[in-house]
Amino acid sequence: MKILIVNAGSSSLKYQVMDMTDESTLAKGLIERIGIPGSCLKQTVGGEKYMIELPMNDHIEASKQMIKALTDPDHGVIKSMDDISAVGHRVVQGGETFTTSTLIDEACIEAIKSNIPLAPLHNPANLMGIKACLQVMPDKPMVAVFDTSFHQTMPPQAYLYGFPIEYYERLRVRRYGFHGTSHRYVSKRGAQFLGKDMRDLRIITCHLGNGSSICAVDKGISVDTSMGLTPLEGVLMGTRSGTVDPAALQFIMKSDNIDIDEMLEILNKKSGFLGVSGVSSDMRDVEKAAEEGNKHAQVALDMLVRGIKKYIAAYAAIMGGVDVIVFTAGIGENSPELREAVLSGMEFMGISIDREKNRVRGKETDISAENSRVKLLVIPTNEELVIARDTKELVSELA
Ligand code: ADP
Repeated sequence: MKILIVNAGSSSLKYQVMDMTDESTLAKGLIERIGIPGSCLKQTVGGEKYMIELPMNDHIEASKQMIKALTDPDHGVIKSMDDISAVGHRVVQGGETFTTSTLIDEACIEAIKSNIPLAPLHNPANLMGIKACLQVMPDKPMVAVFDTSFHQTMPPQAYLYGFPIEYYERLRVRRYGFHGTSHRYVSKRGAQFLGKDMRDLRIITCHLGNGSSICAVDKGISVDTSMGLTPLEGVLMGTRSGTVDPAALQFIMKSDNIDIDEMLEILNKKSGFLGVSGVSSDMRDVEKAAEEGNKHAQVALDMLVRGIKKYIAAYAAIMGGVDVIVFTAGIGENSPELREAVLSGMEFMGISIDREKNRVRGKETDISAENSRVKLLVIPTNEELVIARDTKELVSELA
């Protein structure tokens, strides 16, 4: 069975074809600048890259070009779309409606629409991708996989904010959490790697990329996570501030005479590594600047390290301990320095890192010292594989 995985943004469309017989990736593609001059499609098949530039005014045209590239006799991977059994779509916000991945039908589309107020930037783009695919592949079964659904198991004491309860009851303002497919994948994979059953483990997963979130996975289910109503909450990120005192916003807005939209733009796009270091939103640049003596870059790194440590200790406290800590995503997989800084000085919790084993990038590895009571793992994430597996499972039930 071959599955097409689609992740649509407002002006982009990422796709992958996976062969589920061995879960291998046959093709990866990225279409950028949809509806903007200079649209282009880049596709990689077995290390060979293919790129075309041509105008694509909307997601429907982009989907048609994706099909054309995938079935291209020279650069493609399939003879025709008949080879594709189903399509899995990434959807950012499933609200409280979706606790698992779901087959896409009219009711599902309406429910994704009804969650637009909670994710005004992401859900409309994801919907455009779904609608475009339905138009160009009307007969394919399609599945929606939500970033939020893994976290729907959180108890109210984890997901409620301290507002008057009516804001939850009337507006559904609560913690939803994101990166659910990643936290789900790496926690499960971590348990498998150790030859253990998820139901016997208290796992803390650290997804550290441009956007970062930490998750407490108790006996296989998410019981708390650092991102909130939106992906702005939690630790310091590439351009996002992470958690701040909300009253600080009023202080800044009044003194600089800016409105809430501008304030949120600052919090989402100009803060985090970029804002604090003044160097870059990219971890590699910040690490390099810190090495060269840039104090602002160093303090940005220290803030991230401190933030992660605090979540690890807090989540261990709510789970009554921790058995496994997993690092994943761009920074988590590739920065031994960051992992060492986070895990150092935590011996009081039974956490002890092996500095030699920790010298690893992007590879499943146990980096715990012999005497570490807590297992420390690097597990590269694979969100596309989760989407493909869920799609396969739901579509197989149709047969
Ligand atoms: P996204 O959240 O956009 O999916 P990624 O998971 O790709 O992001 O993570 C991007 C981050 O990973 C960037 O800050 C980048 O600097 C960092 N990163 C990638 N490779 C390395 C590396 N070798 N060392 C340190 N950081 C790295």
